[in-house]
Amino acid sequence: MRKLIGLLKFSGGVRMVNVQESLKVKREVLEISSEIMSESGQFLRKSGFIEILPVIISPITDPLNHSVFDASIDYYDGQYALTKSMIFHKQLAVRVFPKIFTFSPNIRLETEEKKSTGRHLIEFTQLDLEVKDAKRDDILTLIENMFVEIFKGVDEKFGQIIRTMNPHFSIPKIPFERVKYLEAYEEYGPDFETILSKKATEPFWLIDIPIEEREFYDRLDGDGKVLVDMDLIYPYGFGEAISGGEREHEYEKILYRMGLKGNDQEALRWYLDEVKKGIPPSAGCGIGIERLTRFVCNLKHVSEARLFAKVPGTVSI
Ligand code: AMP
Ligand code: MG
Repeated sequence: MRKLIGLLKFSGGVRMVNVQESLKVKREVLEISSEIMSESGQFLRKSGFIEILPVIISPITDPLNHSVFDASIDYYDGQYALTKSMIFHKQLAVRVFPKIFTFSPNIRLETEEKKSTGRHLIEFTQLDLEVKDAKRDDILTLIENMFVEIFKGVDEKFGQIIRTMNPHFSIPKIPFERVKYLEAYEEYGPDFETILSKKATEPFWLIDIPIEEREFYDRLDGDGKVLVDMDLIYPYGFGEAISGGEREHEYEKILYRMGLKGNDQEALRWYLDEVKKGIPPSAGCGIGIERLTRFVCNLKHVSEARLFAKVPGTVSI
């Protein structure tokens, strides 16, 4: 078939883009990804969650803890941002229903160095969930049980084909080990996450992440240094799977944390107005679907885990 070649203007240069790369995905990988979404949705419904529809544009979105190119749309006198994560909408949604999840498309125009991590796309999907009045421990247990259910489900339907792609495939053993961020840093230095991920043969939790490493909405613990939050790290060098935590929900504390981070209060005015009226305490997390598919299928790059993948620094369909 004739290859479609596009021309893209980017960072002052013009580059060739093979727009058909994004269609080079194995059929069985798509089936497994679809099963992952189905198993996780069923598990969450059984656990009392409802699925809400995702928000794609909003005046408020996650400021993130790292810089990406901003994406927004002017609309009459206002401006819509493209969703980087639904964190604020989740905090508001649990006012209406206590356990919610959504498959949320996120747009994060990551810089082009991220192309080679194997883990980054500029459009990806988070299974994003939030639980009113929950503690971090509740979310850890929920996710551990959900992972077992997902892995058993994909094993039942696709075990044989998965094992041809992934010699390490197994049902994760729960509970996952919990590793404190600062202790790991002290033992292994700044590259500890990569080192530990390569050494591990089971997923593990990284907990108590320092305040400088995270956004203002993860809840600060009593000692004022670490947060009541977590990442899940995949073994065999696959790196981060999930981020989440307990949330700040009190207006004054949120303002204080935004001050520490230098967040633009005006940009988050709509959120702050709602916080002032009162939002419930909650905890939750976001799981990258493409990264989970990549891990199950042992893929080199997350772009092999979905159709129409968009790799940082390129333009494709
Ligand atoms: P975050 O809260 O920023 O850590 O995002 C939640 C989860 O979404 C991460 O743990 C990843 O699984 C996934 N994720 C974040 N950024 C990307 C990206 N650029 N490409 C693919 N998946 C991502
Ligand atoms: Mg993260």
